[in-house]
Amino acid sequence: MLKVDNINVYYGAIHALKGVSLEVNAGEIVTLIGANGAGKSTLLKTLSGLTRPKSGNIEYEGNSIVKKRVQAIVKDGISHVPEGRRVFPTMSVTENLELGAFLRKDKKGIQKDMEHVFELFPRLYERRKQLAGTLSGGEQQMLAIGRGLMAKPKLLLLDEPSMGLAPLLVKQIFNIIEMINQEGTTILLVEQNANMALSIANRAYVIETGKVVLSGDAKELQTSELVREAYLGGA
Ligand code: ATP
Repeated sequence: MLKVDNINVYYGAIHALKGVSLEVNAGEIVTLIGANGAGKSTLLKTLSGLTRPKSGNIEYEGNSIVKKRVQAIVKDGISHVPEGRRVFPTMSVTENLELGAFLRKDKKGIQKDMEHVFELFPRLYERRKQLAGTLSGGEQQMLAIGRGLMAKPKLLLLDEPSMGLAPLLVKQIFNIIEMINQEGTTILLVEQNANMALSIANRAYVIETGKVVLSGDAKELQTSELVREAYLGGA
């Protein structure tokens, strides 16, 4: 479904992604783990067209998207839920969700998907008229994911959905990510919570200072010495 081939991304003199290659197959949950500043967010931004690679290619469903505009990439079915939630604080929950569907014209489909988001997140239904800025951190994260789903993505890019949330909420969010995947959406999940991410993923890539240093089956990586030492708090 997605094939990233040898991409290099720079911020001025900073070489943020150094020849990164990876693949995501339809139906998978793939996770990208690594420390702060490793380049995980940069990779997601490059996939959604917010950042341009200096070289390399990104193929999605057989076509290069490396020069496509952000909106065209969303239309193709890639939806990005950025780090830090980024909801519109002075708009209601419903208005935030509607914005996620701004490129769509199928009113009935939009309504149906909004109902589905409210099924996944009953809490958002209860608070549908409330301003997003007054929601708790966990609710804002739910809203950010819900807004991402309103674009009707085939591939959902999630940047650190567990960040700053209490353990119980983290578990809830991860359960919902699994449900979204079971309903047919492919997921690329960036996480610092490596243990949780590996436990729901099919495959994983470990990224260090802009390079993929390890990749493979998620369950196998969960037991690998290197990953345990570096990302799972030792033995
Ligand atoms: P985090 O989880 O902290 O976001 P990350 O793995 O997602 O970490 P990136 O945010 O992708 O890492 O950052 C990769 C590198 O690029 C870091 O060295 C970071 O300082 C640098 N960087 C990221 N964004 C910018 C920017 N807009 N301008 C300059 N440098 C940047």
